[in-house]
Amino acid sequence: MRFFEYYAPKTLDEAIQLLVHHGEGAYPLAGGTDLVTKARYGHLRPRAIVNLKRIPGLNDIAPEEDGGLRLGALVTLAEIARSSLIGERYPLLAQTAKKMGSVLIRNLATVGGNLCNAAPSADMAPPLIALDAEAVIVGPGGERRVRLEKFFHGPGHTELRHGELLTAILLPPPRPRTRGVYLKHIYRQAMDIAIVGVAVVLQFDQREAMAEDARIVLGAVAPTPLRVSEAESVLIGAPLSEDRRLEAARRAAQAARPIDDTYSSAWYRREMVQVLTRRALEHLISHSPER
Ligand SMILES: Cc1cc2nc3c(=O)[nH]c(=O)nc-3n(C[C@H](O)[C@H](O)[C@H](O)COP(=O)(O)OP(=O)(O)OC[C@H]3O[C@@H](n4cnc5c(N)ncnc54)[C@H](O)[C@@H]3O)c2cc1C
Repeated sequence: MRFFEYYAPKTLDEAIQLLVHHGEGAYPLAGGTDLVTKARYGHLRPRAIVNLKRIPGLNDIAPEEDGGLRLGALVTLAEIARSSLIGERYPLLAQTAKKMGSVLIRNLATVGGNLCNAAPSADMAPPLIALDAEAVIVGPGGERRVRLEKFFHGPGHTELRHGELLTAILLPPPRPRTRGVYLKHIYRQAMDIAIVGVAVVLQFDQREAMAEDARIVLGAVAPTPLRVSEAESVLIGAPLSEDRRLEAARRAAQAARPIDDTYSSAWYRREMVQVLTRRALEHLISHSPER
């Protein structure tokens, strides 16, 4: 690792000014589990590092007036996994956080770092998009909000412009009769990045026979997280029969744009999208234990 300037500002304004002043070679630091690894192996060469951890308010988990939730960008995966508020209202997020890294990694890694790093395999992205989350971005031009679905531009690239920071993720109020699941295919039991990730959120009708709304988001099978509306539409407003579930899973696999890499072939990834989508739907319908 080469020498770099290190800053630990105490306000958001100061952090933004430092990033603007140091230009392209300046990087915000959250938990450092991606950034430090990349710098150590020479995949990036920071000239300045701006630690965000001393800025108050960035690691709050706070209920919103409309019944939604504000999740600070610096909230760690461990905090998401153990928060009773998140466990009660957005269990999908707690469940996802528990599937990521190890205890050590979860204690350091933040939700904002996971999203801003923009790896196609980032586990937090599919469930947050399936829950219709919004990104709060603050920079030299002030604050703006972007639907998380539009936040990712490609591997390592996001909606963030230079000098901008992700400060929070906003979740809409939980909807009635809604359940979600995130299934992640990995080779080992832990500490692996997803070969494929599938998040499914279904809002059931009163009798729980049909879905009033469906969201399916895939991870690790395209340059960005992929919402598959062609698969969702099969499930809405009709009985959730086995045929429909299979058709939705087939469409999700068809929409995937996987690549061959050292972890998996594209063919296997596409097959696993179909398997996991079908399993996720079965799980949500039957409340069966996750597999
Ligand atoms: C052993 C190991 C296991 C892992 N397992 C998993 C796993 O199971 N699933 C998974 O998805 N990931 C995994 N990861 C990757 C990593 O831990 C996560 O992506 C983590 O959430 C990154 O968060 P961080 O706070 O450490 O980010 P950092 O490393 O601090 O930052 C990541 C990037 O985002 C930028 N950034 C950070 N915060 C902000 C912000 N608020 N605004 C703007 N830019 C920002 C940084 O400049 C940097 O470019 C693993 C990593 C390791 C080393």
